[in-house]
Amino acid sequence: MNAPFAATALDKLRADLARPTELFIDGAFVPAASGETFEVVDPATGQVFAHSAAGAKEDIGRAVKAARAAFEGPWSKVTPAGRARLLIALAELIERDGEAIALTETLDNGMPYMMAKFAAVVGASEQLRYNAGWATKITGETVAPSAPGEWHAFTLREPVGVVGAIVPWNFPFVMAVAKIAPALAAGCTVILKPAEQTPLSAVHLAKLIAEAGFPAGVVNVVTGFGETAGAAIVEHDDVDKVSFTGSTQVGKHIVRVATGNLKRVTLELGGKSPVLIFPDADLAKAIPAAAMGIFGNAGQVCAAGSRLFVHDKVYDQVVEGVQGMARGLKVGPGLDPATQMGPLVSEEQLARVMGYVESGAGEGASVAVGGARVAGEGYFVEPTVLTGTAAGMKVVEEEIFGPVLSVMRFGDEDLDSLAAKANATTYGLSSRIWTRDISTALRMAKRMKAGGVLVNGGAGVDPALPLGGFKQSGWGRENGRMGVEAYTEVKSVTVQL
Ligand code: ADP
Repeated sequence: MNAPFAATALDKLRADLARPTELFIDGAFVPAASGETFEVVDPATGQVFAHSAAGAKEDIGRAVKAARAAFEGPWSKVTPAGRARLLIALAELIERDGEAIALTETLDNGMPYMMAKFAAVVGASEQLRYNAGWATKITGETVAPSAPGEWHAFTLREPVGVVGAIVPWNFPFVMAVAKIAPALAAGCTVILKPAEQTPLSAVHLAKLIAEAGFPAGVVNVVTGFGETAGAAIVEHDDVDKVSFTGSTQVGKHIVRVATGNLKRVTLELGGKSPVLIFPDADLAKAIPAAAMGIFGNAGQVCAAGSRLFVHDKVYDQVVEGVQGMARGLKVGPGLDPATQMGPLVSEEQLARVMGYVESGAGEGASVAVGGARVAGEGYFVEPTVLTGTAAGMKVVEEEIFGPVLSVMRFGDEDLDSLAAKANATTYGLSSRIWTRDISTALRMAKRMKAGGVLVNGGAGVDPALPLGGFKQSGWGRENGRMGVEAYTEVKSVTVQL
């Protein structure tokens, strides 16, 4: 199979990465104040292939200062239409550099190149275009107070201010863009911190932000570790809001630390999302979707369908089908065009996933397919199907963030009892329902305690569709009108006439 990218593009990228990447603060590329860098590992080989500036407290301090100055100064003078034009210019630059961005993402995260192209390039440019549309449509309301007298009262929606955007490593580029796009549309300024496992595509984004013509300081990109650079953002009293995507554990920590100045916090956290397959489902669609809902991006997806509930009548057919797909998936480096599932992002993640497989087996689950690390270099693990799983097992309760599916069965029971099983988790991010019966589908949709319900397919992420969680899957929503409004404050203005 021919590679879907030019070999020369990969050579150029590797040559560019021979030098450590820098921070982007106040419109300029600079090393970390400490002069330190950290190693970036290719998960397909386990080898260090790049170095990035290790930004920390002092760098965050400078970035916040620049973001504050831009917010109060030049950025506040850019009209809504001007902001929209800049966001669209950035979308076009991302499309121009799509090959290099996708290659960066594949080297850094491990995901198959075509997936990187779709998620990073198409996903990010669509986010920018969608949010560009909002820049000119953020409005308040007129209100009629009931107090005696004559009034003119209205609300204003103003940008919340300086935003810290902290993103994870599973979809590094589109996650970063999905935070900065609504923030900028609303008129905020941003300090973006990519995950330490995958810092590189954010640096490319910084270059395009400079080229697009955003005023200095509007977006600052500080690579570095969570405990240093990330923590400095959350602690900083001149940061007005933190938008975080990552683990529930770190999300809770952020909430505690953010109390210093009571900064606004939105959190998009983990999940343990159920997939329910009813006997009348279109199995030709449901089976591959159930498989790829957990094996896509090696299961490193917050909304992954990690608990599969199948009705007795179709259990054997569905489970055999999913197992067949698991066995047939081509696992390999993301740069290999035949690859369908790449490696896990890091050695740490590999150890974590393998630990869960062992724990499942120890608690009585059967490893029906997979369950082993793939021999050789890199952090590859086999697509894994666990059967005989039950409520109470760690593999059923906790987010694994790997290609490990727990399968359970259900019988002819009422929808309330089935929903109770599906909802028996501390998370509530997503859920998937497969049935041709519209009434079953909609009754189940009402019963699911999750921020998203997908009936008979769908990817679940669209810039227009609110994304977020019930329960411990988060606070607030990203995307859609709610996603932009999360970067605003409302002010009531009352005029006595
Ligand atoms: P995962 O468990 O999936 O690796 P994390 O929640 O640890 O995800 O990381 C998500 C993002 O949060 C990363 O950018 C990481 O650097 C950052 N992070 C980790 N710890 C902290 C912290 N204490 N304060 C702020 N950010 C953090």
